[in-house]
Amino acid sequence: MTNIPPDISQQNNLEKKVERFTLALKGANDGIWDWDLNTNEVYYSPRWKGMLGYKENELENSLETWAKLVHPDEKERVLAQVKAYTNGESDSFEVEMRMLHRNGRSIHVLSRAFLVASKGDGEHDRLVGTHVDITLRKKAEKHNAQNTEILKKIAIGTPAAEIYDAIALMYEERHPGLRCSMLELHGNKLLHGGAPSLPKAYCDAVHGLEYGPDVGSCGTSSYTGNRVVVEDIDSDPKWVNIKHFALPHGMRSCWSEPIKSSTGKVLGAFGMYYNHVAKPNEEESADLEAAARLAGIVMERDQIQKKVHTLAYIDELTGLPSRAYFYQNLEKTIQESLDSNDTFGLLYIDLDNFKDVNDSLGHDVGDQLLQIIASRIKDASRAMDFVGRLGGDEFCILVKNLKENTTRTIAKRSIDKISEPLNLASRTINPTCSIGVVHFPDDGKDISSLFKAADVSMYRAKEKGKNQTTFYTPKLSRNAEYRFKLEQCLKEAIDKQQFNIVYQPQIDIASAKVTGFEALLRWRHPELGNVEPLDFIPAAEKIGKIKELTQWVLNEACKQCVSWQKEGFADLTMAVNISPNHLLDESIVDLVNTTIIETGITPSKLELEVIESVVQTHEKNLNIFKKLKLLGVKVAIDDFGSRYSYFASLKHLEVDILKIDKYFVDDICTDEKSYVLLKSMIEMGHNLGYEVTVEGVETQAQFDLIKGLDCTSAQGFLFSKPAQVNQLDQLLKQSA
Ligand code: C2E
Ligand code: MG
Ligand code: MG
Repeated sequence: MTNIPPDISQQNNLEKKVERFTLALKGANDGIWDWDLNTNEVYYSPRWKGMLGYKENELENSLETWAKLVHPDEKERVLAQVKAYTNGESDSFEVEMRMLHRNGRSIHVLSRAFLVASKGDGEHDRLVGTHVDITLRKKAEKHNAQNTEILKKIAIGTPAAEIYDAIALMYEERHPGLRCSMLELHGNKLLHGGAPSLPKAYCDAVHGLEYGPDVGSCGTSSYTGNRVVVEDIDSDPKWVNIKHFALPHGMRSCWSEPIKSSTGKVLGAFGMYYNHVAKPNEEESADLEAAARLAGIVMERDQIQKKVHTLAYIDELTGLPSRAYFYQNLEKTIQESLDSNDTFGLLYIDLDNFKDVNDSLGHDVGDQLLQIIASRIKDASRAMDFVGRLGGDEFCILVKNLKENTTRTIAKRSIDKISEPLNLASRTINPTCSIGVVHFPDDGKDISSLFKAADVSMYRAKEKGKNQTTFYTPKLSRNAEYRFKLEQCLKEAIDKQQFNIVYQPQIDIASAKVTGFEALLRWRHPELGNVEPLDFIPAAEKIGKIKELTQWVLNEACKQCVSWQKEGFADLTMAVNISPNHLLDESIVDLVNTTIIETGITPSKLELEVIESVVQTHEKNLNIFKKLKLLGVKVAIDDFGSRYSYFASLKHLEVDILKIDKYFVDDICTDEKSYVLLKSMIEMGHNLGYEVTVEGVETQAQFDLIKGLDCTSAQGFLFSKPAQVNQLDQLLKQSA
C-alpha cells in the first residue's frame, strides 16, 4: 500500500471528480447551466452554448448572457417561474421557452432546474439546470395542430380559397423563405387557387396558363402527373417562355407536385418557390408531397360541392338559374326591398303552344327551341336582370332598379325577340310567348302571392290570344277566382243535370229548307247563372271533364236526331262539336261507334265539328280522321279561316265539310274585299271536294249575297237562334 498523505489524496479525488464532471458535461446532449445565486455568475456548458450556435469562448459566464438570449417575449414569464421556485412557492422548475439562435431564428428549449446548497449549511446558493432543444418536437406539434385546424376547416365547409391560404402559410412557416401556390386545373388551363405570399402580379400573369410538357414547373407537373423540380428558373428550359413572370419578383427555384383526387385524377398543382437556387431536402420533399395531398382533399371536396351546387341551382338544359336558385334570389330581393323600401318587377314568361312543337317535332327539337328561347330572353333583358327557367317552357325575369316603363320595355323586347322566326329540323318555327308582369309590393308581398298574381296575368295574356303581355290588376284575380269556382261547380254539373242542349238549324241555300241541326251545349248553374260555352268548355277541358261532356252531348243529340227522323224528317243531320283534345284521343273512335250503335243514328247523318287547330298532318291525327271516316260519319272543319289556316294539310285529311267562320260573313255587304274573300274560300272548298257551310248569317242582305255564291248551306240567327227542341217544331214543319 503506498503512503499518500490524506489531504493530497483528497485533492486528487476532487480533481478526478471535477474532470469526470467536466467530461460528462462536454459529452452530455443536454446543455447544462449552473447559476450562483449570490454572485449571479452562471456557468454554461459547451453544449448549452452550441445549442444556440456559439462556441465555448464566445459567451460570458454571466446572467446577462441568458437575459440577452432568451426570447424577449418569454423573459418575464420564465423569471417569474424561477422566482416562484426559489421562494419555495413551487416544488420544481420546469419551463419551455424560446431562445434566440445565433442565426437569428428561435429555438425551443425545455429548461429544468433544482436548487443546490453547496456550502453544506442548508442554504440554497445555486440553481443548477439543463436545457434540451425541443425545436423539432415543437415544430411537429405545431404542424399537427395546424393540420388539424385545416382538416376542421375542410370538415365544416370553409371556402376552398381560405383553406388554400392556410395550407400555404403553414408550410411557409415551417420553411422560412419558402412561398407556396396552389393552382386549379380547369380543362387545360391552370387557374389561381391560393398563394397568399406570392406577388399578385405574378399570380395574375400565370392565371389561365395552358398546361403542357414544358410550361414552367406547375404547368408541366399538372400535364405529366409527375413531380417537377426546377432548381434554377433562370436556366431551366421549361421556364424559358414564362421566366420573365417570376424572375423580376425574385423567385429562383420552383418545385411542383401535381394535386390529385382520391382516384388519381390531376386536379391542379402545388408549387413551392424559393428566392435562391435550390432543390428540396428530405423534409421539404416530404412536405411538398403532403401539402399536395392536403390541397387535393380540399380541391376534390370543392369540386364536388360546386357540382352539387350547379346541379341544384343551374338548369342543365339552358344554363340559366334553376327554379330553386330563382326562388332563393327572389326571397333575398324581397327582403332587401322591404329593408330599403324599394320596388321590383317580375316577368313570368310562358311559351305559346310549346307542346305542339314537342308533340309534332319531337323532344330533341323542343329542347333546342328552349335553349334558343333562353338565350333570347337573356338578350332581351339587361345584364343586371336575373333570368331563370322555372321548368318546362316557363321562364322568369327579376327586374330591379325600376325606372318608368322598365318592365314594359323588357316585356316588349322579350315578345319581339322570342317571336323572331327560326329554323329547326328543316322547319320554320314562329315561337311566341305570353307574359304576365307583376310588381313588388303592390301586386304581392311574398313569393307565393307574387307568383299567383304573375300566373293569373300570364293566363290572361293567353286568353286574350297569346303572344302578348298582361300587367297584373286585382280584377284578374277576381276573374281567376270566378274561374276556380266555375271549375269546382262544373265537376258536379252533369250529375246535377244542369246541362241541356239547344239546337241551331242549318239551311239548304237552294231550297231554304232545314237540312240539319248543330247541337250547342248550355249550362245553367243555380248560383252562377247561365255560363257561356266559351267559358265552360275550356274549363271542362282543363279539369278533364270534357270527354264525359262530349259523351253526354253526343248521346243526347243523336237520340234527338233519331227521334226527329222518326217523326218524319228522315234526312236531318246532326252536328256535334268535339273539343280538339278529345278528337286527338284515340278513344273518340270507340265513343262515336258506341253512340251510333246505342242511338241507332245513321252514321252519315252525324257530323263531328272540330276547329282548325286539330287539322295537322301529324300521323296520329290522320289516323283518327281515317278511322272516323270508316265509321261513316262526316267531319266538318269548324270556324274555318278564323285561326291559322293549314290549307296545305287539308289535302291529306279525310274531312267533308268546311264551316266558314262568321268573321268572313259579318261585313260582306259593306266591304268588297270581304265578299271576294268569302267567294274565294267557298270556291276553294268546292274545288277540294268539300261541302261548304257559312256560319253566322244574321241579315237577309247577307243571305241574298251568299245565295249568289256556290255555297251548300248556311246557319245563323237569321234562320234561328239556337233553341230548345219544342221551339223548333214549327220551323221543321215549315221546312217539310
Ligand atoms: P261554334 O261551334 O262555332 O258554334 C256556333 C256559335 O255561334 C254558337 O255559339 C252560336 O250560338 C253562335 N251563332 C250561330 N249563329 C250566329 C249568328 O248569326 N250570330 C252570332 N252572333 N252568333 C251566332 P255558342 O252556342 O255560344 O257556342 C260557342 C262555341 O262553344 C261553339 O262555337 C263551340 O265551339 C263551343 N261549343 C258549344 N257547344 C259545344 C259542345 O257541346 N262541345 C264542344 N266541344 N264545344 C261546344
Ligand atoms: Mg260548331
Ligand atoms: Mg263555328
